[in-house]
Amino acid sequence: MNVKDILYQNGFSFSKRYGQNFLTDGNLLAAIVQDAGVGPDDLVLEIGAGAGTLTAALATVADKVVAYEIDERLRPVLATTLGAFDNTEVIFEDFMRADAAALRQRFAHAKVVANLPYYVTTPILMRLLEEGIGDSITITVQKEVADRLTAAPDTKEYGAITVKINLVGRAEMCRVVGRNMFYPVPNVDSAVVRIDRIPHQYDDPHPALSAKLARCAFAMRRKTLVNNLTMGLSLPRETVESALVDVGLPLTVRGETLSAAQYVALAAALVNRGVDA
Ligand code: SAM
Repeated sequence: MNVKDILYQNGFSFSKRYGQNFLTDGNLLAAIVQDAGVGPDDLVLEIGAGAGTLTAALATVADKVVAYEIDERLRPVLATTLGAFDNTEVIFEDFMRADAAALRQRFAHAKVVANLPYYVTTPILMRLLEEGIGDSITITVQKEVADRLTAAPDTKEYGAITVKINLVGRAEMCRVVGRNMFYPVPNVDSAVVRIDRIPHQYDDPHPALSAKLARCAFAMRRKTLVNNLTMGLSLPRETVESALVDVGLPLTVRGETLSAAQYVALAAALVNRGVDA
């Protein structure tokens, strides 16, 4: 029986609030599993099982798939669609409320694969990045968000979240997914983005400060980096200016032109001037 029939038979009605737009095309689901590089030894963490279509595609390849799903109404649907798999586990819980230490312990080296609910895309991604969950994170997100996650410095899409990703690894856009591939059809296209963590990419001794600098740098995009950091971190202007000179940046520079490596260098220069890491 196909998944649309299973949803119908269970009287399921889609919830906009939970961002329920499901993927049903077998070729696309297999391509996403490939994009994620999932193999037979992998533990996969999925966020948002939906009707279990991606969960099942992952389970045919992975060692084990653990999927979070916030909507209890999907319980009977998932019991049907995943009934034949003995390597899937669905946890009915809001992923944003799941215990951080337990997640890290179980999934630090998992592969995260998810077609993310659009209303909570950024908080989920921030949680994964900040809490060290997943060696790699392959997510289907709105195309506009995918452009931001994979942007180059000095473009309008480049922002604090781009730097945040580049501080811990590297992101690439794997494929665009047209809106017609979703059920029901949303009003925007999506794309699959894969983020690979690269441990010690910069040997950053002050990761918290580097991330904080990037956050402050984009607080007001029209302001210079000196102004944003002076205000955002309550630092004397001379301290910020001399740190910039130290790393070879002009005093008029704007935050959106700096690479992750330059944020790392700037954090070190500020710590050398007595700023708290
Ligand atoms: N993986 C399925 C697919 O590809 O067809 C479903 C994707 S759908 C875009 C997102 C799913 O995430 C929905 O089933 C929704 O109920 C679930 N969801 C929404 N918010 C969630 C949260 N905070 N924690 C866990 N699941 C959530």
